[in-house]
Amino acid sequence: MATKTVTPKAERKPADPARVKAILDVLEKTYPGVVCALHHRNAWELTVATILSAQCTDVRVNMVTPFLFKQFPTPKAMAAASLHEIEDLIRTTGFFRNKAKSIKGAAKVVVEEFGGQVPQTMEEILRLPGVARKTGNVVLGSWYGIASGVVVDTHVMRLSRRLEFTKEKTPEKVEKALMKIIPQDRWINFSHELIHHGRQICLARKPKCVDCTLEKLCFSGDKTWSSQPE
Ligand code: SF4
Repeated sequence: MATKTVTPKAERKPADPARVKAILDVLEKTYPGVVCALHHRNAWELTVATILSAQCTDVRVNMVTPFLFKQFPTPKAMAAASLHEIEDLIRTTGFFRNKAKSIKGAAKVVVEEFGGQVPQTMEEILRLPGVARKTGNVVLGSWYGIASGVVVDTHVMRLSRRLEFTKEKTPEKVEKALMKIIPQDRWINFSHELIHHGRQICLARKPKCVDCTLEKLCFSGDKTWSSQPE
């Protein structure tokens, strides 16, 4: 009878291009045609929704944005709104005072510096108050289709470490590491796929490894079930 062979930990090369490709292929098959879960009709709405999504679920953000955009449909209207009016509409997303300031400030910069259009480069988009690389990557990637980096949220961070793509602990460093090993034409969808996988299967507390399509490629110490012998 053939015996099952397992590569010892010391010999494994987690960032080996063949392994990375195998993981990317599985993710693509598992989550075909995956898109951003935040509802939006244009780059501005996606910018605002992403600002609101900090420390808040996408479901909650999607409940709030229809009313917000009905009241203030354009960057110009949002820039003219009072902070109090914006705060009232976004209160349930948490940290609403800071978020209102960011949204109003971002609207002002979009109107005054970019002719009412959300800019299409990372350098320019980072000029909007409340917009850091994560929001920049979401908007540039999901709306404009520009792969300027990898979106690193809490799921991408956790899964990248579990899959041993990186040992880094800050979003900036994790993004840099991922940009080195993930081919650029996969940056946009890769983060969508990891976010879906993190929400549905690779949960923070009890990952559902028995249901995970990546299980054979994963050697995380957090695994709750393994098909690989010890
Ligand atoms: S096997 Fe478990 S820990 Fe590894 S990616 Fe899948 S769910 Fe996450």
